[in-house]
Amino acid sequence: MATLDVLVLEGDGIGPEVTASALQVLQRVCKHAGITLALEHGPFGGASIDKHGEPITQAMLDRSLKANAVLMGACGGPKWDALPTDKRPEKGLLRLREHMQVFANLRPAKLFRALADASPLKAERADNFDFVVVRELVGGLYFGKPRFIQGEPGKRVGANTMTYTEDEIVRIGRVAFETAMGRKKKLLSVDKANVLEVMALWRSVMTELGKEYPQVQLSHMYVDNAAMQLVLRPSEFDVLVTENMFGDILSDLAAACTGSIGLLPSAAVGKGPALYEPVHGSAPDIAGQGKANPLAAIMTVAMLLEHTVKRTDLAAAVYAAVDDVLDAGVRTSDIAKKGEKIVGTKAMGDAVLLALDKQLSAG
Ligand code: NAD
Repeated sequence: MATLDVLVLEGDGIGPEVTASALQVLQRVCKHAGITLALEHGPFGGASIDKHGEPITQAMLDRSLKANAVLMGACGGPKWDALPTDKRPEKGLLRLREHMQVFANLRPAKLFRALADASPLKAERADNFDFVVVRELVGGLYFGKPRFIQGEPGKRVGANTMTYTEDEIVRIGRVAFETAMGRKKKLLSVDKANVLEVMALWRSVMTELGKEYPQVQLSHMYVDNAAMQLVLRPSEFDVLVTENMFGDILSDLAAACTGSIGLLPSAAVGKGPALYEPVHGSAPDIAGQGKANPLAAIMTVAMLLEHTVKRTDLAAAVYAAVDDVLDAGVRTSDIAKKGEKIVGTKAMGDAVLLALDKQLSAG
């Protein structure tokens, strides 16, 4: 890729602070790799409400589809909490995801060796786990029809429906197989094929698709067992693909195992440009104080390098730089233990840049 065109939506609260560090990393990597970086910044969330009266404008939605990727900070905050639901900053994110038709959510969960004691898992169980949950994002139980509550009070019935077409299973499956191809080539498909017909179809379609990826070792597990294994043997996972609600639950379980929300990147991908965002919100309690941990936003850039630029080597350099600064004991307040020296957003970002230079020149 000779030119990388990124739409940057910093958003609110700590969004602009952590995105500034993330962009410095992206600029450094692109310069090293000879990629021309074109950045366009747009208002988003509360910032867009203040400027344009809506959390995302049609112009930004249209622009998102012309970019190679969208990099988001975070949106929301108390200033806009009293607005009706469909006018709030978070609605802008839902509109953006819908507009971009991003149907797969990629959520890496990695235990940093230097922060192993931040994990609620015992050290012998955690054992440097490093895996990705690929969650189907626009189908399954959260979107299936019919969905209703109906009937007379006292005799009401509520229903939701889990449906998947073969095409929907194939498209999420391909994202998962491709992700596995870029990693250890191990894919676990999580379902409930023993009880649900829709999940029996899921398993059979995944198995069939697996024939196109003979290098990937595909296995299957029921979701209840997968939840157990995630906390018992997380280091055995590489890539896990699953239905929307199962993925919602399992990805939060995986996130909790890592120990800090300031360390979690994510990507939402579809057929067009992908949307990259840290998992955390706008953290109004620390916004404007220069305290936020930028590592989630920085690793969000690593995901962009991996999935949009298709340069796993560059992504690996960013991840390795993050590992190096954590190994060296650099800590923002959210990951510091009592008595440890604390640095702010900028100092953490600068430390990553320094470590990144070493990684890039070594590689
Ligand atoms: P939050 O993630 O913003 O904050 C939860 C806690 O984690 C806070 O104590 C915060 O200080 C801390 N934290 C979060 N990110 C951190 C970081 N990078 N470094 C250090 N500490 C960090 O969640 P919340 O408080 O529930 O929500 C705050 C606002 O963000 C709300 O308006 C919410 O709707 C919005 N939100 C937005 C997104 C998004 O933009 N994708 C996601 C979640 C929440």
